[in-house]
Amino acid sequence: MKLYNLKEHQEQVSFGQAVRQGLGSNQGLFFPAELPYFDNVEALLDMDFNSRSSKILSAFIGEELAAETVGQMVGNAFQFPAPVEKVTDDVFALELFHGPTLAFKDFGGRFMAQSLAAVSDAEGNITILTATSGDTGAAVAHAFYGMENIKVVILYPKGKISPLQEKMFCTLGGNITTVAVNGTFDDCQALVKQAFDDAELRQEVGLNSANSINISRLMAQICYYFEAVAQLPKDKRNELVISVPSGNFGNLTAGLLAKAIGLPVKRFIAATNVNDTVPRYLKTGTWAPEPTVPTISNAMDVSQPNNWPRIEELCRLKGWGLDELGYGAVTDEQTAETLKAMEEADYLCEPHGAIAYRVLTEQLTEGETGLFLCTAHPAKFKEVVDEILGKDIPLPAPLAKHNAMELLSLERDNDFEQLKVVLRATQ
Ligand SMILES: *Cc1c(COP(=O)(O)O)cnc(C)c1O
Repeated sequence: MKLYNLKEHQEQVSFGQAVRQGLGSNQGLFFPAELPYFDNVEALLDMDFNSRSSKILSAFIGEELAAETVGQMVGNAFQFPAPVEKVTDDVFALELFHGPTLAFKDFGGRFMAQSLAAVSDAEGNITILTATSGDTGAAVAHAFYGMENIKVVILYPKGKISPLQEKMFCTLGGNITTVAVNGTFDDCQALVKQAFDDAELRQEVGLNSANSINISRLMAQICYYFEAVAQLPKDKRNELVISVPSGNFGNLTAGLLAKAIGLPVKRFIAATNVNDTVPRYLKTGTWAPEPTVPTISNAMDVSQPNNWPRIEELCRLKGWGLDELGYGAVTDEQTAETLKAMEEADYLCEPHGAIAYRVLTEQLTEGETGLFLCTAHPAKFKEVVDEILGKDIPLPAPLAKHNAMELLSLERDNDFEQLKVVLRATQ
């Protein structure tokens, strides 16, 4: 598989290089030079999740990794289901929160960990250094936990992530080191950047990023779109509209890639909160990011979505007009209202999924089937959901288990020298 840099098309890399590097020069995203195409989608949909996923991923990376290896990677990464639940006669939920950290980021994070292990030379140590404001850190920590030759160091702003989020990934130990930094999320990101800019340190500890723009994450996410359609009744597959709650737009990119390689989807909808750079762009044609506003769907509080250039490139290559994309932006008040309405329809959701549901049901027309993505377990946003619904939703087993464990984080100042000591000590 060859990929090119969207900012400098002459820079071409292999899958292995793209996974190890994350970004190309000039901060350019990598994009596949060729996409596979499945003529016989029916046969693909008849397969089980892991066999089908191995087949899809092999079509991308089969030249570099043997089918057996890809099968093992998929088996290790996807150890949990992605069930489709019926919400109303024409509307279905794709639940992507049954992994170890209860959010869809487990799919991409775990496959990225497998990919990195598969494409790295076994000689040197690898240190994954990343900063998190909550969910990504948990997915990355669990994905790499227990892997040989890979150390993980995760920085987060002390006291600025929810206690439940902190318990989820700061209780693992082993090859996972977590550092509560006396500073903000931006400070953490700046420390990570400083580490990557230090060539000597980078070499010494084998620094690698587990960045959210890594192509391996998107490829893993393609697989659950096929899984969703495979679970729909056959008479509901023809006029399918899929609504994706979007922040950095990786999830929507993966959905469009699924369509590009043969999955029959009539239309996608980009659903956001009031951080609505993309909906405004689709409406007016002007890209005008505004300062990010905090919302109750905070995993989507992004006003400069990183993955958008990939969507534009894909549409250009496929000859799809951007006007074929549905879009909508939802306020916190509307999100709360929708959560309540969904509960009355007997479906317990959380803010991100509710946004996708709302825009979907507003735009679905007669004869169409709707599918919306549920990106996190309701208990992951327990404070907000409890308050809106007047409930006390129980913690699912993985959250309850980690909640009862001891925090193992180190505490450090916002100081690069202290970070260097930590990184060296983990080797
Ligand atoms: C990350 C995240 C999103 C946004 O997904 P993108 O791929 O960045 O658009 C939505 N919901 C939840 C719960 C998330 O953690």
